[in-house]
Amino acid sequence: QKAEWAKLIDEKSVSKDGHHVELAANIGTPADLEGVRNNGGEGIGLYRTEFLYMGRNELPTEEEQFTSYKEVLEGMEGKPVVVRTLDIGGDKELPYLNLPHEMNPFLGFRAIRLCLEETDLFKVQLRALLRASVYGNLKIMFPMISNLTEFRSAKAILLEVKEELLEEGVSVADHIEVGIMVEIPSTAVLADQFAKEVDFFSIGTNDLIQYTMAADRMNERVSYLYQPYNPAILRMIKMVIDASHKEGKWTGMCGEMAGDEIAIPILLGLGLDEFSMSATSILPARSQLLGISKEEMKTLAEEVLTMSTNEEVIAAVKKAVNL
Ligand code: PEP
Ligand code: MG
Repeated sequence: QKAEWAKLIDEKSVSKDGHHVELAANIGTPADLEGVRNNGGEGIGLYRTEFLYMGRNELPTEEEQFTSYKEVLEGMEGKPVVVRTLDIGGDKELPYLNLPHEMNPFLGFRAIRLCLEETDLFKVQLRALLRASVYGNLKIMFPMISNLTEFRSAKAILLEVKEELLEEGVSVADHIEVGIMVEIPSTAVLADQFAKEVDFFSIGTNDLIQYTMAADRMNERVSYLYQPYNPAILRMIKMVIDASHKEGKWTGMCGEMAGDEIAIPILLGLGLDEFSMSATSILPARSQLLGISKEEMKTLAEEVLTMSTNEEVIAAVKKAVNL
């Protein structure tokens, strides 16, 4: 099987009936680029920048960040690179920020919430990103957006930083897409409104599932409730994709679910545009895509959306695509 997959490295990701989707990779550092190339990644769907900030005693400088972002953008040679701004908090701590202990870190002061308050820290990252933007195809993504005001505030800071750079005579790419992660149910529910203002969505199912099912993604005791194929999750995903398409925007997914063989047929049927996963999942996903038809998966998706449980959906997909 591995030899069969290897042949697909330079192939396009198309379904049996000819529909193209983008199979992209999730990365944490520039060193991960080699794996992306060796596995035929068509882009970076999620660059988790937190790793630049972790395992050290102080914030990374603008120069350090610029170097990493530039390396990733150049390494991808014009292919799309979605960089997520700092998503610290939850399970990822930065001891040197000396943040107070929280009862529920996953529901607390994390990601964009922290960046909108610690704007100095946020602006350094945005400056580094905008300076790097001329070296490739950069898209900027804000994590943990729960309401439109957060998105508007984050985007306003981005535009402010861009103006500052232009005044300093620094060049910045002309058009940079700015999108959000959909990983909080309130944002999925208002996707039609967000779709008018963002350039793209990327669904973060790792968090979207935990917040929708109220089941901590780190807690073994409740892992049975962590149900990716629960129709409640699937309907939310459909809402987001449909809302984006209605406004001529695109939707990706960068949670674990995007590389999962049960989920892929459903997501293809729902019209997902970009699937971002760990690099080693890309070739198996491409191989699966080549064997399934989007039109048939549309019918499957409609069927599973009427079901009630995770188990029913798994059984229906296995039957439909011979897994
Ligand atoms: C997600 O929540 O699905 C996601 C991709 O972000 P992270 O796993 O980094 O929280
Ligand atoms: Mg997340």
